[in-house]
Amino acid sequence: MIIASNFKTNHTRESTAGFVDFINNQDSFCEVRIFPPFTALDTFELRPNIRLGAQNFYPADRGSFTGEIGYEQLEEFDIDSVLIGHSERRHILGESQESLCGKFDFAKEKEMEIIYCIGEPIEVRKAGIDAVMSYLWEQCVGIDIDYEGLIVAYEPVWAIGTGVVASLEEIDAVLKNLKTKIKAPILYGGSVKVDNTEAILSLEHCDGVLVGTASWEQENFAQMIEIADNLTKD
Ligand code: PEP
Repeated sequence: MIIASNFKTNHTRESTAGFVDFINNQDSFCEVRIFPPFTALDTFELRPNIRLGAQNFYPADRGSFTGEIGYEQLEEFDIDSVLIGHSERRHILGESQESLCGKFDFAKEKEMEIIYCIGEPIEVRKAGIDAVMSYLWEQCVGIDIDYEGLIVAYEPVWAIGTGVVASLEEIDAVLKNLKTKIKAPILYGGSVKVDNTEAILSLEHCDGVLVGTASWEQENFAQMIEIADNLTKD
């Protein structure tokens, strides 16, 4: 099971170090990913099940791309896990499917772990499951869904940072459908909280969660990790 925390534009270098230390001192065994802001990336001595990742990157080793972070800057901190396609990058920062495919191919070439995010807006959800699935498959066009370093995160746009969580039936129907073609682990993301983590992780087709808001408090994130560990033991 995979439990991932996306800090977005939250936490400082100092608070990230404290957070990572707290999580690292917890006796855990599920796969844990932490995506801090670029300014907080560092080399930490971590348990084997915990990895830090990058929320974004520019698909080049180095170069003249003002304001961007390339592969060399990530490699310096042993960062080998990246988020691609998060809805905030698609919808707020205007990343096209074409540019996401470029990032995907670059990260694949570097053999990085890729958490590739897909999710539909509310108007598509209102049109029903068939519309949702065609929207999600469109977001997979140009992406190698057979890449062995792939993890997919299904994150309905209307559930991200809104406090509105998709129903368990809605989540499992989409994950089940995705699994007809995708062999990679599939996470759910969108207003996951400590209170609903167990129910979501218990869904037949769910392999983990990608969490924003509720994960920024280290105690909450630690509880989610503990829930995942306990479910795996059963
Ligand atoms: C996310 O940013 O990936 C996310 C799921 O955010 P939140 O948990 O705040 O909805």
